[in-house]
Amino acid sequence: MISMIYNPWHGCHRFSSGCQHCFIFSMDAKYGRDPSVVVKTKRFDILVKKNRHNEYVFKTTNEPIYTCLSSDFFIEEADQWRNDVWEMIKERNDLQFYIITKRINRFKQCIPNDWQYGYDNVTIILTIEDQACLDKRLPIFVKLPIKHKQVNCEPLLEALDFKEYLSLGDVKLVSVGGESGYDARVLDYQWVLDILSQCIRANVSFRFKQTGANFLKDGKYYRIPKAEQHSQAKRSAIDYIMED
Ligand code: SF4
Repeated sequence: MISMIYNPWHGCHRFSSGCQHCFIFSMDAKYGRDPSVVVKTKRFDILVKKNRHNEYVFKTTNEPIYTCLSSDFFIEEADQWRNDVWEMIKERNDLQFYIITKRINRFKQCIPNDWQYGYDNVTIILTIEDQACLDKRLPIFVKLPIKHKQVNCEPLLEALDFKEYLSLGDVKLVSVGGESGYDARVLDYQWVLDILSQCIRANVSFRFKQTGANFLKDGKYYRIPKAEQHSQAKRSAIDYIMED
């Protein structure tokens, strides 16, 4: 489960099929906000704020800091603010930042001048939901200078063929999950097992994160309540974690 979140900006545009039921749109509708307007959040500089004892307000932790979950870190509208965030990330080398993106095509124009082979405390997680996205994004991702790479197939919408890419580009972990919500699209357990096999063949770690709300297993459909989606996936005990 995600425990630490840092959202420097909020708002996004649908980018591909995985965005269809993005939570931002329903959440913003509830609060009467326009989700397509990208704005800096009030917590933009929380990473470097200090209290009167000169201690960081955002405490050191071993938990990953999931960064920019209410937008995409590489969205165009944030080009004007991103360098300030990179500076804060550099200063807070006591924290590990996990940045999840679909816009990996913009990566090279969005990194700071001193990025070189990547920052030690940054993991970039590429999101892939179907084969068309994989074919477009993964060939770019595997070639990029990033120290820690993961792939997140969530919501997984169909079977995926990773071709040769898992063996190529230092991807350390592939995680898989379904979609939540009333209209959730189905997650077929067979697709999950198929990705697991590809990871084992390529010596890449694999995690089945959650089943989603609409789960198909052995020809039978299951509605899984939100509170049980992670535990149901865990119960399958198919995670394959390689030692570093
Ligand atoms: S890119 Fe991410 S945040 Fe943006 S609409 Fe798609 S799912 Fe939502």
